[in-house]
Amino acid sequence: MADRNAPGALQVIKTPDYEAMVIGAHPDDDDFGAGGTSALWAKQGKKIVWVVMTDGTEGSEVPAYIDTELMLEREQEQRMACETLGVQAVEFLRFPDGHLTNNEAARKAIVRLIRKYRPRVVFTHDPTQHFYAPDPNEKPDDTAYLNHPDHRATGNIVLDAIFPAVGNPRSYRELLAEGFPPYQVHELYLFFTGEDNTYIDISETIELKAKGLECHVSQFGPEANILEMIRNWGAETAKEAKEKKGVEMEYAEAFRRIKLYVPKKEEPESKNEAEMEL
Ligand SMILES: [Zn+2]
Repeated sequence: MADRNAPGALQVIKTPDYEAMVIGAHPDDDDFGAGGTSALWAKQGKKIVWVVMTDGTEGSEVPAYIDTELMLEREQEQRMACETLGVQAVEFLRFPDGHLTNNEAARKAIVRLIRKYRPRVVFTHDPTQHFYAPDPNEKPDDTAYLNHPDHRATGNIVLDAIFPAVGNPRSYRELLAEGFPPYQVHELYLFFTGEDNTYIDISETIELKAKGLECHVSQFGPEANILEMIRNWGAETAKEAKEKKGVEMEYAEAFRRIKLYVPKKEEPESKNEAEMEL
C-alpha cells in the first residue's frame, strides 16, 4: 500500500504462530476434510487449531432432541477427536446449523480467530463446489449429491475474511484494541473440491483419522466401520495422486492449494527471530 510508511501506519504481521487452522461447517467436517493431515503435522510438532462454524443442531433425524443437548454432545465429540489427533485447540462459533450465511458477524468472527492464531495455512471448504455429479453419459445409474449450503457458506466466509479483512489494518479496527493486529495468511488448502492439485500422504495417520471420526458417535453410531470407509476413500485419493502426479502413496488426502504469500528469504522465518528484530 502507498501509505505503508505514513505516521500511524500499522505493520501487517507476516510471521505465523500456528501451522494450520482448519475451518469446517459442522463438527466432523474438519475430521473428514483434513483429519489425516492435521494428525500428521501434529506428530511433526506443528501447532494445529480447528474451528467449527455451526452448532451442529441439525445433525440428527430426531426432531424431539433438545438443541442445546445435541450441541454440547457434538462439541464434546469434537474435543475428543481433536485430542485423539493431537490438535491442540478447537473453537466453536455456534452459528445455527443449516442456516449459515456469509454475513458480517460470521466474517468478523473468522477475522478475529485468524488474527488470534496467525495460522500459516488455512484449510476450509471449496465454496465453488455446488454439487458432486457423475457424467450421465459415462455412469447413467450413479446418483449425484449436492454440497451442503453451510459448506459453501463457510468457504465464502473464510475467503472473504482472509481478503481483504484479515490483513487490512483498517478493517475491523475494534479488533486492534482486543490485541489482534492484521496478519497475512500464507496459503489456503481447500477440501471437498473437484480441483485437487495437492496430495498429502496420510498413510502414517490413516488409523488416527478413523479413530478421530469414531469419536462422533452421535453421527455414525458405535457400530459403523469407519476405518474401512476411510481406508477406501484414502486409497482412492492415493490412486488419483498416482494418475495425476505420478506419486506413490498408500493413503492420501487431496486439496486445492492456493498460495497467497511467499516469505522472502531475508524475512525472519521464526517468531523468535522476528521478536529479536524488534
Ligand atoms: Zn458438514
